[in-house]
Amino acid sequence: MNYKIAVIPGDGIGPEVTAEAIKALDAVGEKFGHKFEYTYLLAGGAAIDKTGRCLPEETVEKAKNSDAVLLGAVGGPKWDSLPGDERPEKALLGLRKALGLYANLRPAIMFDELKSACPLKDEKVIGGLDLLVVRELTGGIYFGERGTVDTDNMGKAAYDVEMYSEKEVERVARTAFEMAMKRNKKVTSVDKANVLESSRLWRKTVAKVAADYPEVELDNFYVDNAAMQLVYNPKQFDVIVTSNIFGDILSDEASMITGSIGMLPSASLADGAFGMYEPVHGSAPDIAGTGKANPMAAILSAAMMLRYTFGLRNEADAVESAVRKILSEGLRTPDIMTPGYREITTSEAGSLIAEKIGE
Ligand code: NAD
Repeated sequence: MNYKIAVIPGDGIGPEVTAEAIKALDAVGEKFGHKFEYTYLLAGGAAIDKTGRCLPEETVEKAKNSDAVLLGAVGGPKWDSLPGDERPEKALLGLRKALGLYANLRPAIMFDELKSACPLKDEKVIGGLDLLVVRELTGGIYFGERGTVDTDNMGKAAYDVEMYSEKEVERVARTAFEMAMKRNKKVTSVDKANVLESSRLWRKTVAKVAADYPEVELDNFYVDNAAMQLVYNPKQFDVIVTSNIFGDILSDEASMITGSIGMLPSASLADGAFGMYEPVHGSAPDIAGTGKANPMAAILSAAMMLRYTFGLRNEADAVESAVRKILSEGLRTPDIMTPGYREITTSEAGSLIAEKIGE
């Protein structure tokens, strides 16, 4: 079977970690007899330098014509002085919107081998941690009406509108329930329904979707409580579903519990099987070109692509277990290095993981 993957390496460490994810995909292709075809596309600072625009039309068109997108990271100090609308990061919002990627999946999995990197006490994470944040990605305050007005006696004022339709909530809630059915059958919906009208509609709509999934237990948490419970008792969560802005914050909090940002993958899904897969981290300009970047978040993002877009479960398992194997053999990139282990570079990590996949 042939799979068409659009690859957007981006800026900083983006191209470095993406190259290692490709090594893993090629190893999967060889071992399991699949053919992955890559089309390299420009976005972010690299696109600004070559075309003057952070998200060229060609990138959107070719990404739409692929089965899935693998993205590195975009942005960097070189483009920081550009106005907001022309900055590399704007390409991410453009891609999400153009590709209809409304559900962002961020697993927070604590690898037992990296327990020492978890900032919580051992007893909070005993037996490991595995939760999934499903964040609504194309609606809410980040895409709502915004503006500035002059007031009579309070100077300038600015506003951003949080608005959700039933349809927007329903589809992301359905994604969360579907995920829960494949996991531990528990969904926690997070809102601020004690204050916000948009949250009250959110809560009502999630409850309607829940009626189609009688096997899944549904809890509703206010966002302030959810933020607290994530560090107090993270093991109570299975799937968390929430709005764009709350998900932005809670998924970062959940990911910190697991240790290094260099280990965290993500998927953004559209209707059907199409998805864009990318590490949670940014372009890390401070370590770009030094061989210090951890490619595991990008490699685990490729594993999510195999699982969610291509439905290749065994292949995804093989990639994830290859990552576990090199960790259990004591090999570490600098971000997760502790005394007594052996330090390896970005490309060594990628090659060793690819080798393990092939075994
Ligand atoms: P960052 O994630 O790039 O870096 C934060 C810290 O984590 C840095 O110290 C970095 O060295 C370290 N780090 C990140 N990824 C790592 C990896 N794989 N291995 C080892 N260490 C790693 O976040 P930032 O510094 O806030 O942002 C840098 C640039 O990236 C900015 O231009 C920002 O806008 C952009 N950014 C892009 C994305 C994206 O493309 N999805 C996401 C976040 C930030």
